[in-house]
Amino acid sequence: MITLLNDQFSQLNTFLHERSFSKIFILVDENTHEYCLPVLLGNMETDLAFEILEIEAGEEMKNIQTANQLWEILTEMQADRKALVINLGGGVITDMGGFVASTYKRGIQFINIPTTLLSMCDASIGGKTGIDLMHYKNMVGTFTFPEQIFVYPQFLETLPFKELRSGFAEMLKHGLIADKLHWDNLIKIQKLDVESLLPHIQTSMAIKQDVVDQDFHEKNIRKTLNFGHTIGHAIESSCLEQGNPILHGEAVAAGMICEAHLSYLEGLISKEDSEMIIDNVRRYYPYLDISDFKDEDLSALLLNDKKNTEKKINFSLLSAIGSCVFDHECTQENIQKSLHFYRK
Ligand code: NAD
Ligand code: ZN
Repeated sequence: MITLLNDQFSQLNTFLHERSFSKIFILVDENTHEYCLPVLLGNMETDLAFEILEIEAGEEMKNIQTANQLWEILTEMQADRKALVINLGGGVITDMGGFVASTYKRGIQFINIPTTLLSMCDASIGGKTGIDLMHYKNMVGTFTFPEQIFVYPQFLETLPFKELRSGFAEMLKHGLIADKLHWDNLIKIQKLDVESLLPHIQTSMAIKQDVVDQDFHEKNIRKTLNFGHTIGHAIESSCLEQGNPILHGEAVAAGMICEAHLSYLEGLISKEDSEMIIDNVRRYYPYLDISDFKDEDLSALLLNDKKNTEKKINFSLLSAIGSCVFDHECTQENIQKSLHFYRK
């Protein structure tokens, strides 16, 4: 079980002392270099040599070019199979660093130290690593668990509000798919800040971990974590393609609105429940203008979603607040209706 840590990095130091690594590579982006690395280096106790690998911040960097640069640097710096990669950052760093480490020399060890709310509650847990391809999200990747995940909530203190709100979308999703009480507690939050979110982070981490433990390779129940992500990823990819990237959680929030409405259209939840969900998600997130996205472009993106088989679009949809079905095939008409509903 992963827990929130308030131990002055003692568990991390114990881990580094107990294991014999040849060298440490710390992967950061420009922001985690500035805000998080000094905290880590100020507390990390090790005699091992370490190198800092820095990439530019942002989803646009989560691609094969960056992975290639990192593989080359690891090679030039003679990283061997006993090297350790420490991913210090948000989901882009944990996805990218996990991918690079799990493929370099057929896999070297890595740990995640998530520094965004989204990566603490979601991206750093579960062993999915990966990069985007063209403008499709997470098209290339591996299922590889990190050796450990160390979650220090103090990193959230420097996180910008928009990023905090982005992570909150995944927390809302956890409540909607698996735990009504968690959802009820989250929607009571009036002001999104670290203090009000802190008591709920552990619950979200536990929900994600529990689902992954039951179905690591996403054959069944893990698919429920994709609620809001089928349409959400299509919106996120469209924005990325247009050179106007939005935050992952913002796309997921829009996706959850569409897919809550879709759950109602498909007869899975009541109109009252769908409206209650949508009203609450809307309270926290600004409207995304997707009016100039063409239906056929979004449909093409939906068809390319990794969850599909045989050209059918499979959705994870709500069957109640706190319960989710997966592999649900929707009619094209209802999918279009749910997008039009959002546009209105
Ligand atoms: P991110 O990694 O881009 O971080 C968001 C921004 O916050 C960046 O600019 C970063 O530099 C900055 N930042 C990070 N920590 C900071 C701190 N403590 N103080 C100040 N600034 C800080 O994005 P994210 O929202 O953490 O993650 C999104 C990514 O995660 C997406 O690529 C998404 O696909 C992926 N994801 C993966 C999984 C999975 O299971 N692997 C699950 C959910 C999301
Ligand atoms: Zn997500």
